[in-house]
Amino acid sequence: MHRLKALRFSHFLPSLLLLVAGIAAASLQLLNEFFTSLFNVLPTLLLILGGAFCLIYSRQRELFLLVVVYCAYFVLDTQADFFRATGKARPDTALVFHLCSLLLPLFYGIYAAWQERTHLVRDLVARSAVLLAVGAVAVGLAQRYPDGMLEWLAQIRWPSLHGEWMSMVQLAYPVFLLAFIGLIAQYIYKPRPLHAAQLVGLVGLCLMLPKTFLLPHGLNVMSSQVMLILAVAVAHEAYQMAFRDELTGLPGRRALNERLPRLGRNYVIAMADVDHFKKFNDTHGHDVGDQVLRVVASQLRKIGGGGKAYRYGGEEFTLVFSGKTLDECRPHLETVRQAVESYVIQLRDKGNRPQNDAKGKQRRGAAAATSVTVTVSIGVAEKESDQRTPEEVIKAADRALYAAKAAGRNCVIQHGQNRRGAVRVAAAKTPAA
Ligand code: GH3
Ligand code: MG
Ligand code: MG
Repeated sequence: MHRLKALRFSHFLPSLLLLVAGIAAASLQLLNEFFTSLFNVLPTLLLILGGAFCLIYSRQRELFLLVVVYCAYFVLDTQADFFRATGKARPDTALVFHLCSLLLPLFYGIYAAWQERTHLVRDLVARSAVLLAVGAVAVGLAQRYPDGMLEWLAQIRWPSLHGEWMSMVQLAYPVFLLAFIGLIAQYIYKPRPLHAAQLVGLVGLCLMLPKTFLLPHGLNVMSSQVMLILAVAVAHEAYQMAFRDELTGLPGRRALNERLPRLGRNYVIAMADVDHFKKFNDTHGHDVGDQVLRVVASQLRKIGGGGKAYRYGGEEFTLVFSGKTLDECRPHLETVRQAVESYVIQLRDKGNRPQNDAKGKQRRGAAAATSVTVTVSIGVAEKESDQRTPEEVIKAADRALYAAKAAGRNCVIQHGQNRRGAVRVAAAKTPAA
């Protein structure tokens, strides 16, 4: 379930925008001289720049996706150039086009799903070997038996499934479909910007191929667009790795450090810390602890009042309210504290719970063995005139957090507030209940 929750539209957004822009640009019948020249060099430029970028970030998968798309572009462009120059197709055009519509989704699917697991050079050698072996066999067969190959490719194997709209060979569609299903499964299993971009890129290729000889700039524009989608995704992923916390999906400490100097004159910072979390980990195991951190993060993410949540580190989170006063933020902090408190977490993986120890036996006997709740304590501070840096405000919020812990936890305390003035719940909860 948490996997489905991790699916994000933002992973798809840059790729979808590029896809739409590419489709729009490709459908223009006339491009001015500048854009015609640009789109003539763009695929090669993207292969060189994007390829270098992929190598620097050790993204062999995307590198080979770029290579595969470029190879298809190069082969088809040679055919399209001849067609444009003479108005006639070359004798081997049909064979080349059919072969491309079959091999492109095949290679794309293989390379997109092929995880980088080994040493960079070994990985590159293995991928190149597959590309060369399959490519050489296909080209060899096509040269030796062009007619037989063409007949085999163009054959309609499933007449009942054949549609008039199919402008590629019928065999290409199941290959596209299989690659598509594989990439959807990959994205659901690991929802990352790169996996989302690979999916959108495949859609782009499926739309591009049939337009190869129909739109004057279709091939250049759309292969550039797919390559750009992949290169942008590598950058998007690098950004995420630097600024997002992997476990919770919240922006991490680095993102907070970037934000702090831009907070302006008035702001409020709150520090939230999970109560008795060490004990919780000891009782339920580290994996359940991780699950709890995700739940707490998902509640903190919903903070209202213009607040933004960051994972400060460990089981500590920072909530930042820019341009707000303490009085404006406090109700939202209280709401979020209550939301965490009342969230009943169903334990997903029974294997994570203790099996043999006394605690485990005791807990398995208890009725609430598969659900738990946690609480957070929150300390909050407003920027005051004598505090010069946001770090000082964080320190003040931290002191308020200590006060919240001392006041019995599961409460919100503001800097300088009397402990007795804390918003306390009547009965403190046991951590593992
Ligand atoms: P208090 O109520 O005073 O905050 O008590 P506490 O036990 O929560 O505080 P303490 O700082 O002693 O413990 C924090 C624990 O959080 C220790 C560490 O094992 C756990 N922790 C930190 N990061 C992670 C994480 O990413 N995953 C898991 N499962 N546990 C973590
Ligand atoms: Mg702590
Ligand atoms: Mg704690």
